Amino acid sequence: MKPTDVIVIGAGFSGLSAAYYLQQKGISVKVVEAASQVGGRARSDKMNGFTLDRGVHFYHHSTTELSKIINLRNLELKNTYPGYLLKYEDTFNLFTNPLYQTVDTISTALAKNATFTDKIRLFGLYAKLKTTSYNKLVKETESSTFEYLSKNGFSKKLIDSFFRPMIAASIFDYNLQSSSRLSKVYLKSLFQDHVALPKNGIGSIAAEIEKKLKPNTVLYKTKVKRVEDDGVELVNGEFLESKFVIIATNAINANEITNSKSIDAECSHVSTIYFSTDKAPVSKPVVMLNGDNGTTLVNHVFVPSLLHPEYAPENKHLVAVNIVKEHDLDDDELMEKCLSELTGWFGLKVMDWQHLKTYHIKYAMPFKPILDEVRFTKKINDTIYVCGDSLSVGSMESALRSGRETADLIAVQLMKGNYKQTDYSFQ
Ligand SMILES: Cc1cc2nc3c(=O)[nH]c(=O)nc-3n(C[C@H](O)[C@H](O)[C@H](O)COP(=O)(O)OP(=O)(O)OC[C@H]3O[C@@H](n4cnc5c(N)ncnc54)[C@H](O)[C@@H]3O)c2cc1C
Repeated sequence: MKPTDVIVIGAGFSGLSAAYYLQQKGISVKVVEAASQVGGRARSDKMNGFTLDRGVHFYHHSTTELSKIINLRNLELKNTYPGYLLKYEDTFNLFTNPLYQTVDTISTALAKNATFTDKIRLFGLYAKLKTTSYNKLVKETESSTFEYLSKNGFSKKLIDSFFRPMIAASIFDYNLQSSSRLSKVYLKSLFQDHVALPKNGIGSIAAEIEKKLKPNTVLYKTKVKRVEDDGVELVNGEFLESKFVIIATNAINANEITNSKSIDAECSHVSTIYFSTDKAPVSKPVVMLNGDNGTTLVNHVFVPSLLHPEYAPENKHLVAVNIVKEHDLDDDELMEKCLSELTGWFGLKVMDWQHLKTYHIKYAMPFKPILDEVRFTKKINDTIYVCGDSLSVGSMESALRSGRETADLIAVQLMKGNYKQTDYSFQ
C-alpha cells in the first residue's frame, strides 16, 4: 500500500470522525479496522430479520457533533418514551420527565419507593440540572455519585431502588462509585432531552458516517499489532507507512498496541441478552428499570421493536435484557436466572421467549471515579496520537469530538511539516 499522511487505527466513532475531518482538509487517510464493519462498540448485527445492537444504545438529541457530519434525517430517528418504568416490589411506576408527560408525572408522584421529601428533592435535582450548564457541572465539587446523592438528602430506599439501576443503565455503574460530576452530566442529558433510536439500528449511524468518507478508506479485518513512529505493523507482518498514526481504539487495545499503560483502562462492563417473543411485555417503548435490590441480576429491559417495528420480523418483538452487576454464572445459568426473575415482572409467558443471542461487552465505557480533566486528544509523541472516549467520558458525542480535535491538531502539524520525512522516490 502507498504511504499515507495518516493511518487511523479503529473505525469506531472517534476513528471515523478523525478520518472524516482529515479528508475534509485534503489529507490522505487510511482507517485500519480489526472487525468486518464500522461502528466499534456502537454497531449492530442482523440475525434472522432482527437487528441486534451491541448493547442498548440511544442517540441523545442534546448532542451536536453528529449533525456536523451527517444528515440526521437519514437515520429516521424515533424518540423513546421520556423517562423510566420502574419495577419496585409488585408494582410498576412511571418516572417521567415533568416537561413532557404531565399526566404520567402523577404516577411518579405516587411511586411508593420514594418518600414525599424524595419527590421534592427529585424535582429540585431536575430543576438544578436543567438550569446549570455542562461546563459548570464539571467544575462542581467532586465526590462519588453515592456520596453526592446521600449528601443531597435522598433516602437510601430511593437511591437503591431508582438511582442505582438508572445510573447502571446509563453508564453501567451499579455501585454509584463513578464521579458525581460525570453522573450529573448524564442525568442532565437524560432529564432535559429526548433520546432516540435510528430505524436500522445504532450501527446505521456509523454506516452513514462511513458514506461521507472516500471509497475504500476503511480496510476491514485488518488488525494492528504494533505502532511505530512512521506507521503500523499488522498482525500478518505487513507494515503500513504513514506520517502520523491516530490510535482510535478503546484503552485496553491502545495500551496493547503501544506496549504501554499510557491510557487509564479502568472500565465498566455490561451483558445484553436478546429474546424474540410474539407479544411485547409492555405497551410503550420505555426503559424498564429493576428497582428491587438484593440478589436480582436484571438491571433494565427495553423492547426496541415497540419503537421501530423494523427491529424484528413481522409479528415478532425483540426484547433486550441487560445485566450490569458482577456474577459468576455461565451463559445458560445467566439466562435461566434472568428469565426466572422476569416471571416476577411479566408472568409465566416469559418462559416462551426464545433466546437469540447474548453479548458480553467487557469494555463498555471508561470508568471514571474522578473527572478531574476532560480531554479529547493525547499526544504520545510527535507522530502518534490517541483519541476516543477512553480519554474523556463514554459517549458517541465525546468520541466524535475527540476524532475531530485530533484531526485538527494533526492538520496543523502536517502544514508545519512537523513529521519524519521519508524519501518515497525509490518505492
Ligand atoms: C452497551 C453500550 C451502550 C452504550 N450506550 C450509549 C448511549 O446510549 N449513548 C452514547 O452516546 N454512548 C453510548 N455508549 C458509549 C459509546 O458506544 C462509546 O463511547 C463509543 O462508541 C466509543 O467510540 P470509540 O471510537 O472511542 O471506540 P470504539 O467504539 O471502541 O472503537 C474502537 C475500534 O477500534 C477497533 N480496534 C481495536 N483494536 C484494534 C486493532 N489492534 N487493530 C485494528 N482495529 C482495532 C475496534 O474493532 C473498534 O471498531 C454505549 C456503549 C456500550 C458498550
